[in-house]
Amino acid sequence: MVLPIKTFPKDKVLREPTRRVEFPLSKDIVKLTQDMVETVRKADGVGLAAPQVGKPLKLIVINMEKNGMSPFPLYNAKIVSKSLKKIEVEEGCLSVPGVYGMVKRPRKVKIEAQNMEGKKITFTDDGWVSRIAQHEIDHTNGVLIIDSIKKYTQGEEQVKEWKKQKLL
Ligand SMILES: [Zn+2]
Repeated sequence: MVLPIKTFPKDKVLREPTRRVEFPLSKDIVKLTQDMVETVRKADGVGLAAPQVGKPLKLIVINMEKNGMSPFPLYNAKIVSKSLKKIEVEEGCLSVPGVYGMVKRPRKVKIEAQNMEGKKITFTDDGWVSRIAQHEIDHTNGVLIIDSIKKYTQGEEQVKEWKKQKLL
């Protein structure tokens, strides 16, 4: 089932603290994971975090289908180390439609998470998975790209308006 995507500033869940996902996974979480995969595909997104569909949980999905990788979920994902070297890449967000800008992030990160079976997985990446996972993990901490963009490529007027209204 494709789920509606929550958007800033209307949906406060995007700023809420999130809970850890417990194992074994409940039927509800298994279904939520499947629905999030369907939703991210339908939205043509590269990643999605549970708060974006209204669930304050540490659950993200990465969708690199365009690179031949099946979409996969990560539970309780966190960054355990990061490179000093940062790179700036243009990002957008399904929860902040119409806004794009340059986001500076560590190039390489080491991520620790759990898979669907609850098994701990650790991996290091310096490409798209690193970039997407950092963006999605931010969501599970209530952080959005509009908190860090300094140079906008689209939607700057909207962001200025939010700042004026003290929503940012
Ligand atoms: Zn996002």
